[in-house]
Amino acid sequence: MSPSATAAPPVSGRIGLFGGTFDPPHIGHLLTGQSIAERRKLDQIWYVVANDPWQKSGDRSVTPAAIRLAMVQETCFWSRHPEFESRACDIEIRAGGPSYTADTLRSLSSVHRDAEFEVIVGSDAAAQLHTWQDSDWLSEHATFVVVQRGGQPAQAAPGFRVCAVEAPLLEVSSTEIRARTRRGLPITHMVPGPVAAVIEAHNLYREAS
Ligand code: ATP
Ligand code: MG
Repeated sequence: MSPSATAAPPVSGRIGLFGGTFDPPHIGHLLTGQSIAERRKLDQIWYVVANDPWQKSGDRSVTPAAIRLAMVQETCFWSRHPEFESRACDIEIRAGGPSYTADTLRSLSSVHRDAEFEVIVGSDAAAQLHTWQDSDWLSEHATFVVVQRGGQPAQAAPGFRVCAVEAPLLEVSSTEIRARTRRGLPITHMVPGPVAAVIEAHNLYREAS
């Protein structure tokens, strides 16, 4: 099992925060993490597991956070990389309630004072940064890495510190994995083997929700 990213001792270095619901984590997340780590010369990627995904939780039943965290921990352990470290970060689960990037960044920066954090977002999210909770604080303190795909220019909200990184387009999503599982289709090659085992053990995604 990989170490929890929240636990002491404090770490230093360049760290990319890759937030998501991860219901389940998949190879699209891993390849994006790798591209960003290489291009931004990051020492670590922390997959920050959302506790209560407030944009999503109304639409479907989200798998309990502890199981999603376990799947991300398995993913990080399975995908050990020679040049950067991947960790599952449970800070938003520990905090409870809805998850806001500004709170997460403030908490992590106060523990890991010598770390430089960069917040990874998709280009759709980058255009909406001004609508995020505490957007003024974020515009002053956060660096965002905007993932661009297919040469589309990144349209970031003005006033934010943003760097664009090109990443390969891989047509896989958690939605598709849940749908395939529900229909009894294999998800081999879409998720690490240990994640498929967790899905099976907990009988996840079998019911339409
Ligand atoms: P869902 O289908 O439930 O929305 P998802 O596959 O988009 O799930 P999330 O947990 O919502 O996964 O995504 C976390 C982050 O990973 C988001 O920033 C999302 O844009 C990004 N992401 C999702 N799928 C891919 C992919 N195939 N390649 C690269 N990044 C991805
Ligand atoms: Mg998504």
